[in-house]
Amino acid sequence: MTFNAGPWRDAERLARSDAPMVDPFGRTVSYLRVSVTDRCDFRCTYCMAENMTFLPKKDLLTLEELDRLCSAFIAKGVRKLRLTGGEPLVRKNIMFLVRNLSRHLQSGALEELTLTTNGSQLSRFASELAECGVRRINVSLDTLDPDKFRTITRWGEFDKVMEGIRAAQDAGIRVKLNAVALKDFNEHEIPELLRYAHANGMDLTLIETMPMGETGEDRTDQYLPLSTVRERLEQTFTLADIPLSTGGPARYVEVKETGGRLGFITPMTHNFCESCNRVRLTCTGTLYMCLGQDDAADLRTALRASDDDAYLSAAIDEAIARKPKGHDFIIDRAHRRPAVARHMSVTGG
Ligand code: SAM
Ligand code: SF4
Repeated sequence: MTFNAGPWRDAERLARSDAPMVDPFGRTVSYLRVSVTDRCDFRCTYCMAENMTFLPKKDLLTLEELDRLCSAFIAKGVRKLRLTGGEPLVRKNIMFLVRNLSRHLQSGALEELTLTTNGSQLSRFASELAECGVRRINVSLDTLDPDKFRTITRWGEFDKVMEGIRAAQDAGIRVKLNAVALKDFNEHEIPELLRYAHANGMDLTLIETMPMGETGEDRTDQYLPLSTVRERLEQTFTLADIPLSTGGPARYVEVKETGGRLGFITPMTHNFCESCNRVRLTCTGTLYMCLGQDDAADLRTALRASDDDAYLSAAIDEAIARKPKGHDFIIDRAHRRPAVARHMSVTGG
């Protein structure tokens, strides 16, 4: 990780810039994903090893510091903010942060405050999330079979997640389901997941497994290209491409038979980096400019160096100037090692 002290140490040169963040490839950064904790109450086999070592709690930014960092990004043009993890809803007092950040929704500075969750704690938090202005959330669900759910999450309880999804919908929050497509695990269940999602008013997005962090599993055994999934689905369903642009990596189709939407996130078979509008902040204040690269910027030092956000703003500008063109993910027999050593739970996907 690098931190260039030059631009922010020289206070005289700091004119606080709230100009839009544009990277060297002309992409405007308007989306911040924040991993508020690296901890989780599940141990999904494609995401974590069973015996994970987590960060010592003392290394975490406080919720006040996370709020200040997020607010600095919002001042610099972030319009969409997603809390993720680990499991964001297991971070102690997380609703304090959500409630504080919701002031940016009220002011109009932020268009969307949302989260990605495994759903285990949703029944507790759904109404409060809705009160804070959270309108849509992503819930990860890879199977509808409770036994298989336990196998893939190692520790998860299927019924609690179902309860959580219902609680979110009852609170008026739109739910989108995310499922990682896994060879020999859920590959034949995808039509059922699709029908379930669409029958219950949810979009479904399928994700290709990415080589991030050691999990104790062989990724070549898990990896299922979504091009194969799509071909198989087309034997049963009529999939019509729709130009829905979320500014994100998913490509969407409408499923004529169900009337619902299906997204494909294909980092492996189709590189989507050319339209990347996002950066990722970890719970220690490290900014990753790309999910699939190791280069990162230490914003915690700038945050703690001064109460003046000008330092932070300059450190953010310096980081955005280093945003790389794209990732180099590859999974095959010759590449058994993860492309990046950190787990997905560090940056939250
Ligand atoms: N715990 C929350 C959840 O599961 O939704 C948020 C964090 S989780 C890291 C975010 C998303 O990343 C989930 O949809 C999960 O399925 C996905 N994910 C985790 N590891 C992955 C991997 N190696 N490849 C592809 N997706 C992964
Ligand atoms: Fe936890 Fe989400 Fe990773 Fe599963 S995918 S282990 S729920 S962080």
